[in-house]
Amino acid sequence: MNDFVTLKGKTIVVTGAAQGIGRALVEQIVALDGSAVAVDLNAQGLADLKKVSDRIHTYVGDVSDIAFANNTIKDVTEKVGPIHGLVNNAGIIRPAMIAKMTEEQWDQVVDVHMKGAWIWTQAVGRSMIERGGQAGEDTGVIINISSAAGRSGSIGQINYSAAKAGMFGMTMSIAKEWARYGIRANTVSFGVVETPMTEVVRGEKFRDGLIAKIPRGYWAQPEEVVRPVAFLLSPAASYINGQHIGVDGGMHMSAG
Ligand code: NAD
Repeated sequence: MNDFVTLKGKTIVVTGAAQGIGRALVEQIVALDGSAVAVDLNAQGLADLKKVSDRIHTYVGDVSDIAFANNTIKDVTEKVGPIHGLVNNAGIIRPAMIAKMTEEQWDQVVDVHMKGAWIWTQAVGRSMIERGGQAGEDTGVIINISSAAGRSGSIGQINYSAAKAGMFGMTMSIAKEWARYGIRANTVSFGVVETPMTEVVRGEKFRDGLIAKIPRGYWAQPEEVVRPVAFLLSPAASYINGQHIGVDGGMHMSAG
């Protein structure tokens, strides 16, 4: 059974899918024979992604908008069919030292990561619960994307670190509360991945210090870090629930 990691017949919602890790995950999902619902603010990025496969369905909007989430899930359920997975991946950074951070910088980051993850968990979870799954079945999977910053803190990113730490609490609450419906939840934390989000920290000024914190000795490409996410979404991970998995080359062991 060499092909036990398959998403055949599964429909997975990925937020923040227009570029970076989210885009690579959507491509991995279709490569494993699944269908993907790609959600993002970036209409052009989604239009480009849609060209990859007719099993990619795109929805443009803000993840922190409850009405957008509910309308999207209703539309997907009617037009595509039942939803089996959700990856809360959309993210932004608004760096500032604690003493200088504005309320707007705090709210923007917390709204996209934490409020956004809760909104999509509720919308997708309700649609899974309506299908009447039971404990012990594999009705649906929810993955919250966190960060090494959420485990060890990060200078200049109290908003982001707090929001990413919040993902662990959300995952465990979902895993406990919805296990009775056959829904499982896990967190995946990344370290440094080569995407537009990390352009500054990968620059000359910080790169050596950054690499020194990664025992594996390099930062990852999106294609490498999305494979474990696909595994967790697949039936091969049916007994993994309420877990926090670092896909970070060992960076979680280094001080922030
Ligand atoms: P990215 O900036 O390349 O992509 C993020 C995507 O989210 C973009 O397409 C953006 O348009 C979308 N997005 C932002 N706000 C949105 C909103 N309100 N509504 C809808 N879409 C929105 O980032 P990435 O590096 O691919 O990061 C993906 C996830 O991984 C994020 O949650 C990030 O915090 C996390 N992460 C990344 C790294 C890394 O090294 N890149 C490390 C740890 C965690």
